Amino acid sequence: MRPPAPDDLASSMPGLFCSPEERAVWEHAVTDALLAARASVAEGRVTPVVGVEILRSRLAPFDFQQPRPLADAIGFVIDQLKQGLVQITHPRYFGLFNPAPTLPAELADRIVAAFNPQLATATTSPAAVAIERHVIQAFAERVGFPDTAGGHFATGGSEANFTALISALSYANRDFVNRGIGAFAGPPVFYVSEDAHVAWYKIAVQSGVGHAGVRAVATDAHGRMDVAALADMIESDRQQGLVPVMVSATAGTTGAGMIDPLHACADIAERHGLWYHVDGAWGGAAVVSETMRGLLAGIERAHSITIDAHKWLATTMACSLFLTRLSGPLRDAFHIDGYFMPSSDHAVDPYMMTVQWSRRFIGLRLFLALAAVGWQGYGEHVERSVGLADLVAERLRAAGWTIVNESRLAVVCAVPPEGSRAVGDIARGVLDSGQAWVSCTRFKGQDALRICPVNGQTTADDVRMLVDLLNNVRKPGYGQGTRTEEG
Ligand SMILES: *Cc1c(COP(=O)(O)O)cnc(C)c1O
Repeated sequence: MRPPAPDDLASSMPGLFCSPEERAVWEHAVTDALLAARASVAEGRVTPVVGVEILRSRLAPFDFQQPRPLADAIGFVIDQLKQGLVQITHPRYFGLFNPAPTLPAELADRIVAAFNPQLATATTSPAAVAIERHVIQAFAERVGFPDTAGGHFATGGSEANFTALISALSYANRDFVNRGIGAFAGPPVFYVSEDAHVAWYKIAVQSGVGHAGVRAVATDAHGRMDVAALADMIESDRQQGLVPVMVSATAGTTGAGMIDPLHACADIAERHGLWYHVDGAWGGAAVVSETMRGLLAGIERAHSITIDAHKWLATTMACSLFLTRLSGPLRDAFHIDGYFMPSSDHAVDPYMMTVQWSRRFIGLRLFLALAAVGWQGYGEHVERSVGLADLVAERLRAAGWTIVNESRLAVVCAVPPEGSRAVGDIARGVLDSGQAWVSCTRFKGQDALRICPVNGQTTADDVRMLVDLLNNVRKPGYGQGTRTEEG
């Protein structure tokens, strides 16, 4: 299929809006152009061939003085996206956790754009609010929360984790809502492991506790929170006048897929009366799988949980779930008299309990995907990734590599055999080849390649190609005189 020539489209001359007949032409044309682009992305390089400087010069002619045909602008944009992205929809993108989105999620975005509902209040968008609540409740039940639990959709793990910290501060001291952190008898602090996501530092700034409020607890030999160290740190912090408010366990560290001891962390949080959060931004997706959800035992004891839908659940960006067993502190924190908002039921109004005000209807992506395949089908998607990760590990081991993380989630941290090039050089070699995308991480003081097969369309052949490439690129003489620069 080929997109119609821009000339065919120019005849309909749309400005900002158009007739239903013209719309049909535009939508079909964009659909065709995207089908062609997808095909070329899947067969092309995973890595970009142009950088920001070149793109800047290509953008210069768009001075916004003279209107240009929309069809030209769309064609231009699609071309730049084909050349100027790490293609995360590519089957050999073994990358960070945002994979190719599911079909239902992409279709959901189209449907949402057509209606463009405002989700601030249930009065203005009862259908959309009800659908999101339905999904939130299904996940809350799935993690083992009581049916009084609540939550909402957030733009990402960062927003959801920020929401958890606000809940914790409000739970620890109701006066926080009026007086901010000045309401506490000493500086409020919260606990994460040293392998937790570094976005916690930004969250600390946003909430007013600052970087000093992030207490990074040592990890054990496997990269999981050391609970004895956690207990000691809380004790000694208290003695020094700090005010602990939250323990956040990570269920699936970003670097190595390790799961902190969720029950032991819950015990300590409980003993000290602290808010207990589980950051399952990536690994929390294991709850959809019947065979894997047991890995998250203890998650049901959390006050709140983050699960990113735009990671392993493969929705479009940006989409995360914030689940909470106790909505009260959040409601206290975010309730304001929205006198101009048309609302009759603040108990279900998203703007009264969440960071955002105007909101996009992002939960539909997960609703449609779950409706289409059920827990079973979603579970198979997650299990399939683990199967591919096992295959990566097995083949690399057979070629003399060492796998340094013991994760049961779909991430492999691999160290090359003795005598290989440095890990960073190997990763760069893979990226330069354009054949695949992998990243580097540091695990227990050691550099490792990080390989994460979360794309639902990656095959065993793709794994074979990756492993061959890695075995090639790791050799000391690799790439001499063969490197090509483009653009
Ligand atoms: C990705 C990630 C985050 C940040 O989430 P965003 O969706 O990128 O905002 C937080 N915690 C963990 C464990 C993550 O993997």
